[in-house]
This record gives sequence, C-alpha cells and structure tokens, in this order.
Amino acid sequence: HTIGEALAQAAARWGEREALVSVEQGIRWTFAELLDRADAFAAGLLALGLEPGERIGIWAHNCVEWTVTQFAAARAGLVLVTINPAYRTSEAAFTMAKAGLAALVFVDRFKTSDYAAMVAEIGPDLPALRRIVCIGTATHPGWIAFDDVAGHADDAARARLAAIGPTLDAGDAINIQFTSGTTGQPKGATLSHRNILNNGFFVGLAQRLQPGDRLCIPVPLYHCFGMVMGNLACLTHGATMIYPAAGFDAAAVLATIERERCTALYGVPTMFIALLGHAKLDRTDLSSLRTGVMAGAVCPEPLMRGVIERLHMPEITIAYGMTETSPVSFQTAVDDPFDRRVGSIGRVQPHLECKVVGEDGATLPVGTPGELCTRGYSVMLGYWDEPEKTAAVIDAAGWMHSGDLAVIDAAGYGTVVGRLKDMVIRGGENIYPREIEEFLYSHPAVEDVAVIGVPDERMGEELCAWIRLRADSAGDEEEIRAFCRGRIAHYKVPRYVRFVDSFPTTVTGKVQKYLIREAMIAELA
Ligand code: ATP
Ligand code: MG
Repeated sequence: HTIGEALAQAAARWGEREALVSVEQGIRWTFAELLDRADAFAAGLLALGLEPGERIGIWAHNCVEWTVTQFAAARAGLVLVTINPAYRTSEAAFTMAKAGLAALVFVDRFKTSDYAAMVAEIGPDLPALRRIVCIGTATHPGWIAFDDVAGHADDAARARLAAIGPTLDAGDAINIQFTSGTTGQPKGATLSHRNILNNGFFVGLAQRLQPGDRLCIPVPLYHCFGMVMGNLACLTHGATMIYPAAGFDAAAVLATIERERCTALYGVPTMFIALLGHAKLDRTDLSSLRTGVMAGAVCPEPLMRGVIERLHMPEITIAYGMTETSPVSFQTAVDDPFDRRVGSIGRVQPHLECKVVGEDGATLPVGTPGELCTRGYSVMLGYWDEPEKTAAVIDAAGWMHSGDLAVIDAAGYGTVVGRLKDMVIRGGENIYPREIEEFLYSHPAVEDVAVIGVPDERMGEELCAWIRLRADSAGDEEEIRAFCRGRIAHYKVPRYVRFVDSFPTTVTGKVQKYLIREAMIAELA
C-alpha cells in the first residue's frame, strides 16, 4: 500500500475512533476527520500549483498541522521533507536548498524562536520555493495561512487528488528525513511508502497495539521516532496518536498520561530519566500505561527496570534503528525473557536480515562485536542527492552499514556496544565507552554519564567521563576514580572526570559526543 491508501483504509475501518489528540491545542479528530482534513489540505496544495513528486517541507514542533501536512503530502504524492525545529537560519537554509523545496509549511513562532523572521530571510534564496504556508498568522505578502489552504480546494483540485492516488507506487520516495546529527552533519535519508509504512506497522505489532490503545508521543514528529514509530504505528493499528505538548515537557507528559488514560508512551532515554526524576511522578496515576518504546540511544538496564516498575510499563519494548532503515531494525518483544527485554535491543524485525561484520567486511562469529548491518524492505532508497555517501553505506548486495558496534548472541538477541566513531583505542586496547558508562551508572551519585576518548600523545587516546550528578550530591573526581579501581580494569578508569549540569544533545535528546570531544580538546589544549 501507499500511505494514502492506508489512511483511507483506517478511515473505513475505524472511522469513528479517535485518531489524533493534541492536549495543548485542545483538538480531537477521528480517523474519518483526519482523512477529511488531509484531503482538503492536499487538494488545496494541488490547487496552489504543486505537483506529485515535488518536495514540501514541514518546519514545526509537534502539532496537528504537522500531521495533516504529513498525510496530505502522502495523499498527493508530495515528498515530505521534515525539518528539525531546532535548526536556525543556516542549517534550515541548507536542508531546504538541498531538498529543492517547492513548498514550505512552517509555524510562525514557538517560544523564543521567530520562524517567520527566519523564513523571510531564507525564502528569497530558494529559487524552487513557490508556496509558503504559515501555521499561525501569514505576516508577509504572498504567504498563505495554513487554515486558508483548504479553501483553495475546488472541485477540479479534488478530482485531481482522486486521480493521483492510483498512480502512486509504494516504492516511490515520499519522505526525506535528516539524520539526528549525533556524529556530525545530518544526512537526508530518502524513504518510500513501503519503507516507513511497514516499519510503523511492525513497531506497533511488537507492542501489540490495537484499536483502543492510546499512544503518548512526546518525541519529535520531524524524526522517524515520532512520524513513523508514532503516527504510522497508530495509523496501521487503529490506535490514537496523542501529543502532550509542542516540545518535550515532563510535567505535560505525566498530566497527559493521567488525563488521557494513555496505554503507551515513547521516549529517548533522557526523557525517561526526566520523567523518573520528576517531583509529580508519585502523585500521577499511571495505571493505564502498559507498553511503549525506549529507543534512539543506549537504554541502560537500571533505567529500563525503573521505567517498568515506577512508570508502570510492564510491556515496554526497546527498539534499535536509524533513520536510514526507516528506522527500526531490532526490537524486543513482550514475550522475550526478562533479562533480554531490559538488557538487549531484541531480535531483528520480521522480514529483515542482519549480520555483524569485521573491518574486512567478513561476517563475524556469534558473540563477537563488529559493525551491525541490515538488509530488507526498510533500507532507505538513498541519501537525497548524495550518491557517493549512499554508496559508502549501502553496499552492492543491499546491506546497510550502520556505523554501530554490536554483538548478536546465539539466540539472535543484539546488544549495542557503541558507535564505530566513538570506540576508543587507548594504548592499543579497544575500549567501548558504553561499558564504562554502564558501570558508572551504578555509582549512587551519578544520574547520567557520557564517556568519550580524547587524543593523547602517549596513549593515542585517553578516557574522559562527563558526569551529571543527582541533586544534592557533590562531585569528587578522585572519589569517582577510586570507585572504579578494582572494579573495572585499570586501563578503563577515566583519566579525566568532569561534572556538568547538562550534555550537548540533539533535540531528540541524544548526546552529541563529538561536541564533548571538541570541548575537551579545547580545555586540554
Ligand atoms: P547521525 O547519523 O547524523 O550522526 P544519528 O545516527 O544519531 O545521527 P539517527 O538516525 O536518528 O541519527 O539515530 C540512529 C542511531 O541511534 C543508531 O545508529 C544508533 O547509534 C543509535 N541508537 C538508536 N537506537 C538505539 C538503541 N536502542 N541502543 C543503542 N543505540 C541506539
Ligand atoms: Mg547515523
């Protein structure tokens, strides 16, 4: 199917069920209403002169207009380009130019961000950009207010929209998503209907989502975590997409779970850490929660146990993936043995293959760490307009090379041990920062930790730990090292320990170790 067909099917099967709730915006739409809104917006876009295959950007925090744009683009065959709301003028201009946007939908302002001013600056430099649609007030000549687009949908445009549907193919590009930028410049992964619709379906299946399930989505929609694992999993299982707030807000998430009786919750590890540490947690009724997904970065075992017990999520799953594989390729399942459910990324998803390879590209034996590769329906079409970068990650046999180091055991369960780029080689010894992070988590004063390698003349690299302490704990570098000694090998004891209030992160909450490394290099210089 195409995503447009899946939406029509959802409206036919579950028409009167709630599809979409925005707590902040006070909106509740059924699947039938969502289809109506998407089609009205899609026909409006066609009436404004857009053509299937052209790119339409969306630059906004989570809101219902985001999702209307997502489904309208899918119905009209427009390629949705999701733009990170944390981007500022130069990054946004780069992605918009790269994708050759014909149209842009954006929110006028959010908190202190004045998107209208940024779009006014960027717009004139984008020759292909013909239509600018503003969620909020259209303050510039030529801009169209989001709410006015549907008004352009005349009978001719509606007829065009109906005619376009059958011409679309599930293998067509429908989405360009930029990677998180955890290791450097984001890259635009080009994804098809088949890629993301199926992936959303399998991610929902592993959680046993069904009509009546209510999924709280605090993760950003501009990333596949929100738009595929959230929106498309709900669409394909008849569950309700619930947006607590435009940006991540722990208090809003807790209030939403209680008020909306959510049965599922998504988050990256840092979000779950924030929820578990929130003062209102113990006063919130979380009894409706059952399942959900933790993903996006390493999911520490103590954190998983905390979420299962204190957030009342007995059936929470861990998913592993990357934008380039739509995103999920591994996921735990409710019936996995408990230790695997909290301590692994689960097994490879249905209809995908995986292998672990060494530096020479040869497949490694079970239990040996190496680069994780996946192949199958979910592998992206390629990086948009970057054939060389695409060829560097997808080989001739169709394997996507993840850049992640993992181990797969005899039963097929995977464990991520780190990123190739983050592996530290100290005096010839391979060290996986992840292992030391897991160890340091067991220190009672440590709330969060990031371990990196910094260049060192003598050893090649030395280890450095950035630690965020729990409230009312004091940091003592020597005490941390003493805690390590005798418990982990001497060469794994961090040479540098720094106490910080926060880590540099992407808006999805992933720690950007390359920025920590840059900061340390500057400090040590
Ligand atoms: P960039 O490619 O721009 O540096 P990124 O790789 O962080 O950024 P994404 O595609 O959003 O961008 O994230 C995919 C990566 O996230 C994976 O390659 C992996 O390193 C990490 N990841 C995702 N899920 C997990 C998980 N469950 N456990 C460990 N790591 C994970
Ligand atoms: Mg990546």
